[in-house]
Amino acid sequence: MTMPNKEIIEQNLAKILDPTTGKDIISAGMVTGLQIKDGHVAFAIEVNPKDGAKMEPLRKEAETLIQNLPGVISTTVVLTAEKQAENPQNSAQPSRGEPNENKGSLPGVSSIVAVASGKGGVGKSTTAVNLAVSLSTLGLKTGLLDADIYGPSMPRMLGITGKPSSTDGKTLDPMENFGIKVMSMGFLVEDDTPMIWRGPMVQSALEQMMRDVNWGELDVLVVDMPPGTGDVQLTMAQRVPVTGAVIVSTPQDIALLDARKGLNMFRKVDIPVLGIIENMSYFLCPDNGKKYDIFGHGGAKREAERLGVKFLGEVPIEIDVRKTSDEGHPIVISMPDTVSAQAYNEIAIRVKEATETVQSSSSVTPPKIVIQ
Ligand code: ADP
Repeated sequence: MTMPNKEIIEQNLAKILDPTTGKDIISAGMVTGLQIKDGHVAFAIEVNPKDGAKMEPLRKEAETLIQNLPGVISTTVVLTAEKQAENPQNSAQPSRGEPNENKGSLPGVSSIVAVASGKGGVGKSTTAVNLAVSLSTLGLKTGLLDADIYGPSMPRMLGITGKPSSTDGKTLDPMENFGIKVMSMGFLVEDDTPMIWRGPMVQSALEQMMRDVNWGELDVLVVDMPPGTGDVQLTMAQRVPVTGAVIVSTPQDIALLDARKGLNMFRKVDIPVLGIIENMSYFLCPDNGKKYDIFGHGGAKREAERLGVKFLGEVPIEIDVRKTSDEGHPIVISMPDTVSAQAYNEIAIRVKEATETVQSSSSVTPPKIVIQ
């Protein structure tokens, strides 16, 4: 089969005209950061910030066009406006010599699963850790990126101390424990360093943690996103080449619309939502093993059905979940027979399946050979 190359992609993109200027997007220099790897194509279209929302049909057009080319397995196209935002006079011409290669997929990493939540404190990080460890026990080569740079929790939750080293002086080797590779801002700064980040700094910190790390070959990279659904999260969701996202919610959080905001955020940037996980679904009393529905168990499941999103499973409030987290021994490893550990394992299986479904549905059926 013909494999797509830069020339073919550019030739095709040159057929697309920018409605605001009438120029084609290649000669207008709007296409940046083109990356092609094994049939996976990614690039950005630089637009004027004031045209942002208007340009979505153009983005979609470019994506569909490239996706339909023979040999293309997946296409990721993002709109970016940041350069023009810094210099509005600078029309759509990208500044030369700036590295744009940071927007494509991660070499060697087959899929990226973002774990997100509408707000903090719902157990997003706990879920990300246990999900990553469970995925690895399913036989997947797994990495975990702590993108929650405001409050990195992975060093503590995974019991990892020390700093990552660099073999080549350029890229960092990830830390490892429980069979997964981990990178977190928590490894790079002291525990008590106050961190005040502005939007662009957050982005570049995250991109470095993603791209300047020797992840090696990974089947899946789980990304613990920062909590919330503000602009930073939105931009980040755009910058990380995410295969799919899972939303962690408590029963009352979904009632308060927070989780729905998370859902909408990913829909806005065309990232498939793999499903919703209900955390702190009910209280499992350690004394008598009884279930107590503190927050109105089942809300996420009902809401997922209503919103047409998969329900990936529910995790009870179990004291051992918090204890094992605090001790740096994720419950799926340290207490595999608990209800929560089994819930995480089932969730991992569903996440794996949902990721595979997304990947296979974005692949192109090979062209039929017609003999005349
Ligand atoms: P987030 O990442 O959403 O801010 P965390 O994962 O840090 O949330 O969880 C917040 C607190 O709740 C932590 O102390 C964690 O150990 C605890 N926690 C999370 N999920 C559960 C659960 N299912 N049962 C008991 N405690 C939990």
